[in-house]
Amino acid sequence: IAPIRVLSKSAAHSSIMQPPTIRNVAVIGAGAAGLVAARELRREGHKVVVFERGDQVGGTWVYTPKVDSDPIGVDPDRTVVHSSMYQSLRTNLPREVMGFRDYPFVEKEGDEERDPRRFPGHREVLMYLNDFAKDFGVYGIVRFETEVVFVGLVEGGKWEVKTKSKRGEDFDEVYDAVVVCNGHYTEPRIAQIPGIDTWKGKQIHSHNYRTPEPYRDQVVILIGSSASAVDISRDIAGVAKEVHIASRSLPDETFEKMPGYDNMWLHSMINSLNEDGSAIFPDGSVVHADIILQCTGYIYDFPFLETNGTVTVDDNRVGPLYKHVFPPALAPSLSFVGLPWKVVPFPLFELQSKWIAGLLSTRITLPSEEEMMEDVRAFYSLLEASGIPKRYTHNMGDYQFEYDDWLAAQCGSPVSEEWRKQMYLAVSKNRRARPERYRDEWEDDHLVLQAREDFKKYTS
Ligand code: FAD
Repeated sequence: IAPIRVLSKSAAHSSIMQPPTIRNVAVIGAGAAGLVAARELRREGHKVVVFERGDQVGGTWVYTPKVDSDPIGVDPDRTVVHSSMYQSLRTNLPREVMGFRDYPFVEKEGDEERDPRRFPGHREVLMYLNDFAKDFGVYGIVRFETEVVFVGLVEGGKWEVKTKSKRGEDFDEVYDAVVVCNGHYTEPRIAQIPGIDTWKGKQIHSHNYRTPEPYRDQVVILIGSSASAVDISRDIAGVAKEVHIASRSLPDETFEKMPGYDNMWLHSMINSLNEDGSAIFPDGSVVHADIILQCTGYIYDFPFLETNGTVTVDDNRVGPLYKHVFPPALAPSLSFVGLPWKVVPFPLFELQSKWIAGLLSTRITLPSEEEMMEDVRAFYSLLEASGIPKRYTHNMGDYQFEYDDWLAAQCGSPVSEEWRKQMYLAVSKNRRARPERYRDEWEDDHLVLQAREDFKKYTS
């Protein structure tokens, strides 16, 4: 892979005269974020090691029927499975939008193992990430079955990285920089409901949902309204006796049948749970349930990271971080790829990684620490003034493409393709209108054609 040496005049903070600096960089995690971070860092000429505690690349896309030893995921001593994928999962983004910008996620014709659908199953995404790792030579720099157990600052602004491998080897090494790509869909976030501690039924978090069979003939209360909640409720409605969806995003006193189903209801959030297994809803309705399935999201967790309080996780805000990537006091030697959510992840990871790589080589420069802190403070004030809760700090739904384009400008890269933006909006609209069928029926074929035309740059 030829390292990028072309200096772009359009980069906002480029320092043209300085020769690039080569750094030793540790990347934590070989999911989509870690893979593209490794590629961008190597393109820039850095020396990279990727630490991966699993035995293969792909992160959350490595489906396994195994689950955590504690199904609700609160026991700190439980055995943890990384992936939250369920067996029936198909992507909620079309492959054209989802893929890395310069490595399109196109169908592999003539290979029967592959899933050619526009919204393919999880195995196809894993295969795509494997292709990416192979094509960019990332495999050779991944240390598999090696968990990072400690990352801390040492003299000279470098980082001590301690690892433990499954083979029983412990390493203690020093790197110039650390890029954290450990994912954030593994540690469950749990809804606190009055009475939940003494409620007698089974409790499970969607992290540990795999197949509908255990829900056969059961009365299930499913909490949440995220993409997983929408999919999983439909998955289990086929076998369960009753499915009651409880969501705090529904208006108070909602109690209605889900259109198209005779065993699924929508409720506003549960008021309280009783020992006899009943759940009381705000409109006074009572449901006797066997199982509560929490599709309530996840929390950020960096158990290995020691920054002496410089970086904290407070109500799911990782901060302070400049543009969701750098703690100002430790920039650019410590960075995070992949924190934003409600986004198109892979292209965003790619741009964050390009920015980090260019900054580490000093091809691009950052504002001063004080200026970055000021930017962070202004961002937090804006969230507060808009009534956005702290836990939504990294929710980027409304401005992700603006953010992507800002990153692109820093790196001297092209902004997001117009078809990608339009297709994202078209799919979101279609998903809301027909949650059961959006993956197989759509009206944006003209955008698919534009995307395919664009992909010829990379595939022909
Ligand atoms: P991960 O894929 O989680 O990878 C993190 C890696 O870090 C893992 O391999 C893990 O083993 C490793 N790791 C963690 N801690 C350590 C440590 N201490 N030491 C060493 N290694 C460590 N995105 C889409 O674009 N389209 C979709 O349709 C879509 N559907 C989704 C459905 C579900 C159910 C979920 C949970 C997510 C979905 N996503 C989807 C988002 C998905 O998470 C991202 O696309 C992306 O794969 C995240 O990549 P990542 O590298 O940040 O994290």
